[in-house]
Amino acid sequence: MILALAGGVGGAKLAAGMARALLPDELVIAVNTGDDFEHLGLQVSPDLDTVMYTLAGIANPQTGWGQAGETWSFMQALERLGGPAWFQLGDRDLATHVERTRRLASGESLTAVTRAICERLGVRHAVVPMSDDPVRTVVHTDKGELEFQHYFVRERCEPRVERIDYRHSAAARPSAALSAALANPALRGVVICPSNPYLSIAPILAVPGVREAIGRCARVVAVSPIIAGEAVKGPAAKLMRELGVEPSAVEVARYYRGIARTIVIDRADAALAPAVEALGLHAAIEDTVMRDDADRERLARACVALLDRTGM
Ligand code: GDP
Repeated sequence: MILALAGGVGGAKLAAGMARALLPDELVIAVNTGDDFEHLGLQVSPDLDTVMYTLAGIANPQTGWGQAGETWSFMQALERLGGPAWFQLGDRDLATHVERTRRLASGESLTAVTRAICERLGVRHAVVPMSDDPVRTVVHTDKGELEFQHYFVRERCEPRVERIDYRHSAAARPSAALSAALANPALRGVVICPSNPYLSIAPILAVPGVREAIGRCARVVAVSPIIAGEAVKGPAAKLMRELGVEPSAVEVARYYRGIARTIVIDRADAALAPAVEALGLHAAIEDTVMRDDADRERLARACVALLDRTGM
């Protein structure tokens, strides 16, 4: 069994490749819930949704969020009434949030709700929240303290980031499924997907016990989301600059030192391999831009092969 840690866009792409390469009982995908928030009275879990939709083959590849072929009647009606329109909710996507909210209100855990929705969407691999307890990523910026979605969506990541908090993480427990995966004697290793290290992976590692358990696991491979000094999508490079870190695969490697043994860097960054190795990590060079299903599966198989060759 392999454990994958994932955020939204970059995480979902590699997680989908792993789901093509591995059987359902060979993979657990633990997803960041630090981005979760309540909006219009609904419980929204953006990264869980992106991973579920991507595995179900219904994700919108252009936006990186929401479903393909959406209609927008709800948003149009809401705007007409003067309701908040900064967070786009397509009609189909809305159904996910309504159903999640209904089930959570009836006492089901986020793990159970996610499992039920996955089943209905035809997702057979385990997609699990990092925790059933609320953890909220808060971004401290030059425009003040912003809840994650306010920073990310409403303010389009424009404010300058000073520091990031994973609020309530100290009191959170890993979900039972994540704990079980970490304690499973049959765990073949952990793949840290090419998600934003600070906004998507750090909240997972901030859940007490997770960082330590992964640090103890000899076989951990992380894929760099930074290629040639830039993020493929999203604010990772801008954020690194604002935090005083040069955006590069080497700095991603430095961030994961003590957690991962192998860092997968893109072929475009092959010249950085010695600098990664100088950190005491193994650098593996692969084509890491995932344009289609074949790219995702190839990178996933490469990561699985690296796990089997890494440490012990
Ligand atoms: P978010 O929660 O929706 O922001 O999603 P993630 O944190 O999972 O993904 C964002 C990160 O994915 C960004 O830093 C991107 O650079 C990275 N990313 C997106 N697509 C790819 C890809 O095809 N290859 C690699 N290596 N990174 C990618």
